[in-house]
Amino acid sequence: MTLPAHIIKAFRNAPGFDEAAFCRVHESGDQVVSVRLNPAKLPDPAALNFHLGAKVPWTSSGYYLSERPFFTFEPLLHAGAFYVQEASSMFLEQALEQTCDLSTPLVALDLCAAPGGKSTHLLSLLPAESVLVSNEVIRSRSSILEENLVKWGAANSIITNNDPRDFSAIGAIFDLIVIDAPCSGSGMFRKDPDSTNGWSEDLVKLCSQRQQRIIADVWPALKEGGTLIYSTCSYSVEEDELIADWIVGELQANTIPIQTVVDWSIVGSKSPVHQAAGYRFYPNKVKGEGFYLAAFRKSTVADPPPKHKSKPNWEPVPKNIREGIQRWLNTDELVLVNSNDNLLALPVATEKCLQQLRSLYIRKAGVSLGKWAGKDLVPDHALALSHLLANKFPVLSVNREQALNYLRKEEVNASETPKGWATVQFGGHILGWIKQLGNRSNNYYPRDWRILKPA
Ligand code: SAM
Repeated sequence: MTLPAHIIKAFRNAPGFDEAAFCRVHESGDQVVSVRLNPAKLPDPAALNFHLGAKVPWTSSGYYLSERPFFTFEPLLHAGAFYVQEASSMFLEQALEQTCDLSTPLVALDLCAAPGGKSTHLLSLLPAESVLVSNEVIRSRSSILEENLVKWGAANSIITNNDPRDFSAIGAIFDLIVIDAPCSGSGMFRKDPDSTNGWSEDLVKLCSQRQQRIIADVWPALKEGGTLIYSTCSYSVEEDELIADWIVGELQANTIPIQTVVDWSIVGSKSPVHQAAGYRFYPNKVKGEGFYLAAFRKSTVADPPPKHKSKPNWEPVPKNIREGIQRWLNTDELVLVNSNDNLLALPVATEKCLQQLRSLYIRKAGVSLGKWAGKDLVPDHALALSHLLANKFPVLSVNREQALNYLRKEEVNASETPKGWATVQFGGHILGWIKQLGNRSNNYYPRDWRILKPA
């Protein structure tokens, strides 16, 4: 692709911009593919239909691939064993490790979370007993966020579907807020050349105004001393360094520098007025796409959360049902609640956080266990994919072809498994539930998530 002259011209003032090398890398047509493994479900590399290449240097679980496989046909993607993510974005790991105290549990918010790249990464990195609230304002995009987080399997996760302004009244409850802001998207030009058509100076201006609004709206929800990590996939100074300046100037936040290694070739930048530290990723310098990240500490006093007078819209689970559910779980240290006849399992800190989010629209909280049907549980798919499932259910081990049939929600032969519920596993990873009825079996893979593409 040849980048239009008006676009190139607009980036000339960006720190570290090397016009000739930048144009060359876009003209080359080279593509970088990378994945991040789920440390809680480490896949057996032999079960992957592709080879993991070199490690992405700024993260412990990211790998480059030499070519792009057809990911839809990788059963382990549907098992949540890995996530396909652009490499530069994985720098979030350095930002988190260098700006937060990871020796104690954190309450974190990923404000612009869909489709879930940063959230799945955070869930792998946050200390035990932390909570992650992943918010997505656009309803249709919150479904893919839910799908990806359910597959990732962490129980300490809440998904909300709110506008950032809805967070301004909940009080300062977060130790960490990540804002991976909606932006003009120039960092993705190499991956998606058609996106150059929608780019304009006006779009950059509109995005920068929206970015300020989003940050201002959510700022009251960050505790004093808490960390804000701000990122974009834009090269425009208006959306990067000028926003960093605005955060320091308007919100009296302190910049937090992040150590990088010279070989990583990340460009360190300083905002023009307040010298806020920022980190720029150029595809002609790093093996990854365009990205900017900056971190800040809140230095001002913040309001505590208000006292809720209203009752939450979930109830405790009666003792007999609790006892019935327990056999499905590998721990008894969970709060079990009934929300509209759907049974949920919540780690203690997650339930406490949920109480504080009562004014928001909650799309998912903890692990959905399923519905109680008189004598036993009809288990939810989320329970099968979670880390909470007791390791005592019959297993139907399938090969790749059978796994793909299962994921297409076709019937699979389960005649070897005993009657009742069994997990379907590929390469030792759970794909979902099947129920053996005797002469046939029912495939419980969620209809909306099934693979529609023929082989
Ligand atoms: N963090 C995500 C990840 O790593 O997978 C990518 C986030 S994407 C760069 C920005 C997100 O912001 C999109 O999901 C978009 O729907 C959302 N968004 C759009 N307008 C918004 C607004 N006004 N307030 C908050 N979020 C918004």
